[in-house]
Amino acid sequence: MPITLKTTDPDFDRRFADILVMKREDSTDVNDAVARIIADTRKRGDLALCELTARFDRLELTPDSLRFGPEEIAAQIAKVSDEDRAALSMAAERIRAYHARQMPENAEWTDPEGATLGWRWSPVSAAGLYVPGGQATYPSSVLMNAVPARVAGVRRLVMCVPAPDGVINPLVLLAAELAGVDEIYRVGGAQAVAAMAYGTDTIAPVDKITGPGNAYVAAAKRQVFGRVGIDMIAGPSEVLIIAEGGQNPDWIALDLLAQAEHDADAQSILITTDPALADAVAGAVDRLLPSLPRAEIAGASWRDYGTIIIARDLDEAAALSDRVAPEHLELLVDDPEALAGKCTHAGAIFLGAFTPEAVGDYVSGPNHVLPTARSARFSSGLSVMDFLKRTTIARLSPGALAQIGPAAVRLAASEGLQAHGQSVQARLDQLNEGQGS
Ligand code: NAD
Repeated sequence: MPITLKTTDPDFDRRFADILVMKREDSTDVNDAVARIIADTRKRGDLALCELTARFDRLELTPDSLRFGPEEIAAQIAKVSDEDRAALSMAAERIRAYHARQMPENAEWTDPEGATLGWRWSPVSAAGLYVPGGQATYPSSVLMNAVPARVAGVRRLVMCVPAPDGVINPLVLLAAELAGVDEIYRVGGAQAVAAMAYGTDTIAPVDKITGPGNAYVAAAKRQVFGRVGIDMIAGPSEVLIIAEGGQNPDWIALDLLAQAEHDADAQSILITTDPALADAVAGAVDRLLPSLPRAEIAGASWRDYGTIIIARDLDEAAALSDRVAPEHLELLVDDPEALAGKCTHAGAIFLGAFTPEAVGDYVSGPNHVLPTARSARFSSGLSVMDFLKRTTIARLSPGALAQIGPAAVRLAASEGLQAHGQSVQARLDQLNEGQGS
């Protein structure tokens, strides 16, 4: 049974607050194990990678076989059906087109004092993409990480993906080829993150590591942050659906289940203004759930974290959604644009009955790597910006320095930084001499 609430219930505020602080993450402490794996990989490099891969992925490798060779990649990709290739190619193209529009512009202007100012964007030189492969495989995640990196202009793209028992999904390799990945290594877990951060004889280090993974991967990304950049630590997935009467209850139930089947810790929330729709959706979930191959996972998520809230009106629903700040927000209402204008905090918004969240996981174009656990209040999904840095630019004319330099001298004196002040004053003195002569 999901949690069911009415905003008119006397204890609604308290029970809703409980939902906001619900902890869904696995709290297993893996930090010590990860610290040991990172230290070992730094010390022994490729040999550590080979030993850890034998231990965790049951795959015997030598330093020479850590990297997928071109013939092996071609042979694997040849196994992909034409239909799968067409679907993946379409996804890659749409993701590329969407992210191309995110490229920011450089800026430059000269202000009234004569200072030419601006900024310039440039890509990181090398990015490392972690692609999970322990329990399931994710060709779509390859595209969502690699395509924005390529669009940003990253020159070297490295990918690490575990191949448990030597098995790799050919679609993962095809996605890497479509996205333009340069090097692919069959290494997973914390050792892959350590290798990309610190480098080994075989894997040259990168500047930024992105991509999802299990608790070991997440802990390793936290521990190497600073040495390299990372994207985010994404937690269990979530969807919030706002629906009004007249919407199809089966579609809503399937959208809730699509999120729940990701993970027993995933969360699916329905907020509706129509009590009859709430009942119909709850019934549809119960009817549709048993037929899913992942019924056990989806059922656990729906039982423990599924929530149905009956709101007075859509304004109230939007306000509640903003407090949740969901990763995915679906608006199944007659005028979704108007309602979207009232929803500020969400990783991604899906407008109208024909935009199920699942289409956004694969082919709509926007990125599916999104902030979870209420972090959409202050952060955004993966984008080309994650692979770019901004360098500021300033060039002062002598006249500009003459005008704004004296204030710098004063501020340097107030901070007790004499060389700072002298560095500016020496130039001002020369300008003053020039004027005097
Ligand atoms: P994974 O590749 O993340 O992890 C496999 C690796 O974990 C192994 O290669 C091994 O090195 C390491 N490992 C396993 N047991 C270990 C142990 N006892 N000690 C040290 N290391 C160990 O693959 P996975 O396990 O399938 O996990 C993938 C995760 O990524 C899932 O939680 C999934 O939900 C998540 N995911 C998230 C998104 C997203 O966009 N948020 C997308 C895809 C997947």
